[in-house]
Amino acid sequence: MGKFLNSRLKDLVPYDTSEEIESMKGYMRLNTNESPFELGPEISKAVKDSVKEMNFYPDPDCRALAKKLSELLEINPEQIILGNGSDEILNFIFTGFCEKGAAFPDITYSFYKILAKFHGVDFLQVPLRDDFTINPEDYTNLNGRTIFITNPNAPTSLFLSLNSIEKIIAQNPESLIVIDEAYIDFGGDSAIRLINSYKNLIVTRTFSKSRSMAGGRLGWAMTNYELAKDFRAVKNSLAPYNINAMTQAAALAILEHEEITQKNLKIIKTVRENTKSALREIGFEVFDSAANFLFVRHEKISGLKIFEELKQNRIMIRHFDHPERISDFNRITIGTPEQMQAMLEALKKILKG
Ligand code: PMP
Repeated sequence: MGKFLNSRLKDLVPYDTSEEIESMKGYMRLNTNESPFELGPEISKAVKDSVKEMNFYPDPDCRALAKKLSELLEINPEQIILGNGSDEILNFIFTGFCEKGAAFPDITYSFYKILAKFHGVDFLQVPLRDDFTINPEDYTNLNGRTIFITNPNAPTSLFLSLNSIEKIIAQNPESLIVIDEAYIDFGGDSAIRLINSYKNLIVTRTFSKSRSMAGGRLGWAMTNYELAKDFRAVKNSLAPYNINAMTQAAALAILEHEEITQKNLKIIKTVRENTKSALREIGFEVFDSAANFLFVRHEKISGLKIFEELKQNRIMIRHFDHPERISDFNRITIGTPEQMQAMLEALKKILKG
């Protein structure tokens, strides 16, 4: 690190995006849980039309978009704050709402730890049970730490029941609880319906997975009126015009064609179940996934070997070196039926040796 970087940041370990860049060069991308479905002409048209107003700053409150989202989710638009990806939403939370520290599972979305370190937020990693599930009883005596729960969790793909989520919220009235629902559209009950019943709940979502817009960068938070006011103040102090006009237009058009999202979701869920069965038939242990990816390990071959050999076949999946207890697992994004077929064929060849 050079001498101009703040000394507090000298040990910075940023999010590793190298595999994602490499995967763009002709690889089948099954490593970052994106949607395999391209956006259609309706969306291209909306984006093209938005260019006409690009000489103006975009709407800082994304009013048209928030209104449409609020109708879909049956909440009030004032309860929605949009972010440049849900990563930005998480960054706002670490910036403005983590004075007493953070707590999250030891195996979960890796960005929480990166953000905690960046902001100098003291963090506690709560071990998952041996079967990789979250035990709500482990989330007690947290002294006001902000608690982050990804549901369904990543990379495990497992869903925690809404009853258990509610238990964590209710038993920690001094903590803010963030339920990261990046993958909720693929399975499980949302915690949205709890946001008006509790003072300490924020639910976050993204357009990156179920709505084919990882490249457009859009996520959002939903919470009660009081917290939403504070959240908006944090956001408008850091990045008032955080959502560009093209992304706002694309997202609005996506919501106006909700039937396309629903159709794609149905396909992904069917392909997920078929792929799960096919993988089990060839000796993989596969968790019951509520997300758009599968968390798998093979009885005979190491996770690293499978990852490397698929890579040689130009298929990228996600391998985790650490923590130790998931080093034999890989995470595979659900793609199109054709992509899954090609991946299964490649795996069968690898297994034959
Ligand atoms: N939360 C979870 C659990 C994720 O897996 C991701 C995607 N890597 C994000 C949040 C961030 O998504 P985005 O910034 O694309 O909205």
